[in-house]
Amino acid sequence: MRADRIGIDLGGTKIEGIVLGSNGEIVERLRRPTPQDDYHGILDTVVGLVTDLEKDRGALRVGIGTPGAVSPATGRIKNANSTALNGQPLREDLETRLGRSVRLANDANCFALSEAVDGAGSGARVVFGVILGTGVGGGVVVEKRLLTGINAIAGEWGHNPLPDPADDERPGPECYCGRRGCIECWLSGPGMANDHERTTGVAATAEEIASLATPGANRTLARYANRLARSLAVVINVLDPDCIVLGGGLSNVPMLYERVPELWDAWVFSDRVDTPLLPPVHGDSGGTRGAAWLWPDE
Ligand SMILES: [Zn+2]
Repeated sequence: MRADRIGIDLGGTKIEGIVLGSNGEIVERLRRPTPQDDYHGILDTVVGLVTDLEKDRGALRVGIGTPGAVSPATGRIKNANSTALNGQPLREDLETRLGRSVRLANDANCFALSEAVDGAGSGARVVFGVILGTGVGGGVVVEKRLLTGINAIAGEWGHNPLPDPADDERPGPECYCGRRGCIECWLSGPGMANDHERTTGVAATAEEIASLATPGANRTLARYANRLARSLAVVINVLDPDCIVLGGGLSNVPMLYERVPELWDAWVFSDRVDTPLLPPVHGDSGGTRGAAWLWPDE
């Protein structure tokens, strides 16, 4: 029983918790809606989830995936799109409430860790995990351990500018971070939807565009694949990971796994590019699983 651990994914609309068994199996799963703009409500919900998951089990190790990151300088959350968390000492408050040490990591880092430990990247030494969803995030895992970085932003490629922009991609859409033309503005689900509406005049969600199969939708997907190829080429040039695993809603678009590796050669500084681009194994459970794996087997 001591090998079980709890993983919590603190999302913008729901907070999900699992008990992960010693063989990586999900023993129990609970979900609660996320209290909006209410930090203390979020604390109460997380503590309540842990209490319910531990019923008849005793105290377990707890890992939490959160938007943003814990600032190494202040111990407080920064960069979170759920802004109620920003500036708050989330880890400290949870440790006080739960009476034990708690591990926290960025949600994209948790996804990358989950796929690296026992998912699509389980045989790889260096894994770059990418979230293409409401936002764009990323995480770097080296030998099944997260690389956090001195600023706690390792893998955060979503707010780099789109590489090699064409004239009609400059300066690019405004981003909530205050800059323009960030990768996230192009490669998030809303980013794809905005691009589609700008060029076709048709409003559709990313999910709808992926299944429309109209000439306009196909052109939007082709532009998307090209931008993803440019953006990942930069990652390959810097990190040269053993594989790249896609997650988030747009990881469900099958053509990306063929088309993007055909395109990225043009921007990678190598005579050939052997980097595998892989779909996730754990789907939507990556966040909670990775949070639990913040407590690795010693
Ligand atoms: Zn940005």
